Amino acid sequence: MELIKIQNFIDGRWQAPATGSYLKNLNPATGEAFSEIPRSAADDVDLAVRSAELAFGHWSKLPAEERSQYLKKIAARIEARADEFAEMESRDQGKPVHLARRMDIERVIQNFRFFADFILQKHEEIFPEAEFTSHVLRKAVGVAGLISPWNLPLYLLSWKIAPALACGNTVVAKPSEFTSMTAALLAEVCLEVGLPAGVLNIVFGLGSPVGEAIVRHPRVPLISFTGGTETGRRIYRDSAEHFKKISLELGGKNPNLIFADCDLDQAIQTTLRSSFLNQGEICLCGSRIYVEEKIYPQFIEKFVAQARQLKVGDPTDPKTFMGALVSEAHLQKVKSFIEIAKEEGGKILCGGDAPELPAPLRKGFFLNPTVITGLAENSRCVQEEIFGPVVTVSTFSSEKEALEKANGVKYGLSATVWTQSPEKAERLASHLNVGTVWVNGWLLRDLRVPFGGMKHSGIGREGGRDSLEFYTEATTVVVKQ
Ligand code: NDP
Repeated sequence: MELIKIQNFIDGRWQAPATGSYLKNLNPATGEAFSEIPRSAADDVDLAVRSAELAFGHWSKLPAEERSQYLKKIAARIEARADEFAEMESRDQGKPVHLARRMDIERVIQNFRFFADFILQKHEEIFPEAEFTSHVLRKAVGVAGLISPWNLPLYLLSWKIAPALACGNTVVAKPSEFTSMTAALLAEVCLEVGLPAGVLNIVFGLGSPVGEAIVRHPRVPLISFTGGTETGRRIYRDSAEHFKKISLELGGKNPNLIFADCDLDQAIQTTLRSSFLNQGEICLCGSRIYVEEKIYPQFIEKFVAQARQLKVGDPTDPKTFMGALVSEAHLQKVKSFIEIAKEEGGKILCGGDAPELPAPLRKGFFLNPTVITGLAENSRCVQEEIFGPVVTVSTFSSEKEALEKANGVKYGLSATVWTQSPEKAERLASHLNVGTVWVNGWLLRDLRVPFGGMKHSGIGREGGRDSLEFYTEATTVVVKQ
């Protein structure tokens, strides 16, 4: 089979990497290579930054209405090609095609439309006083360096690209080397809609040197990064040299608190999704499940029985719930945590193994939904992010204990609370040290509200007004009456 070969997208053109070399990219469901992506270097990043700088002068001065029109055109073209985008996302990432269509690509379209509209709304900040009036001018920052992970590839990259462009910045972006293909399709769309050259540049390749060169580049004043906590720590350090504006959306180990007064069937249905959707490779997955003691027996019986029924396998089959994990290395990492759980005294109630699948899926990176109980709170599987279809389940007997356990990790991204009592939900939300609390639901998102994490889950918030503030610099003007 001939491999699809993509190139860097710099200055509105496809350009081969300076190294002339390419990385083989696998389909996780078959373990076979299907494409090649540029193994770029710092020189390619420099070229992209220069092109973005040149484009900035024109792009940042365009009226917001014109930038908004470009974003709307991009959204419309992606919508017209949505099935193609979804198939490519699935082939590259391993997730089911229907999920890529419904979740990822739908959200990509929404990201562009949302920020196209948002930038046209009035965001005036004027503060009149008796003797003087202050107002705030917001200006584009410059070249935005945007770096994204492999779990929700274009979904997360467009969550950065759309607001950056809407606010008048130009962009140098780097997707994960495991999932570059839909970013190349986005570049095609930019050509189709006539986005001016240099406004969006995409450099493909490895975190080091490509991501690192973006982060260290003296003429990239803003970095938005989504990815692992350790990488985030390094990026924070590397960007300090030039005091860059920085947003870090990092790992999570999110608690899911299930109280006895909840609608148990609904809690179980949603918990299956929050545990295993996208193979558990979502930073917001509720990988630590805590159930109030008195309903634990009912919960665990039904939950495990239904987890066993989830269909794992062919990502092109509309009935498949879980596809393949993103890579062999990641599969091995997730499996190693299951071994650690056994050593730590955990009991594997289901999963831990791979489904029996026919060729060509036999060499894919599959793992069944895995439920573990019996672990102490300080065990590694409870404390560390596994980022796969593996959840731990244990109990609590009071609100206080639930809170202590929920807050007892270094992460603080999100939490879910299941209860019919609005007062209890509000009380818990005010004590949970996380960026988002869902009550009786999961993954519900309004793009106007702040999104981000506390503690080791990151720095800063994006979404709505927060994106506007992040992707602009403020100048306060004070006029004496
Ligand atoms: P990584 O941190 O490994 O990589 C993220 C991106 O950073 C990739 O494009 C990577 O390139 C790049 N990168 C790696 N090293 C550097 C460097 N030194 N400088 C600049 N860029 C670098 O994360 P994963 O791709 O493994 O994604 C999984 C992680 O992402 C999980 O921890 C997950 O929780 C987190 N995540 C957080 C979300 C949130 O909103 N809080 C949402 C989704 C995921 P390369 O791939 O080539 O290494």
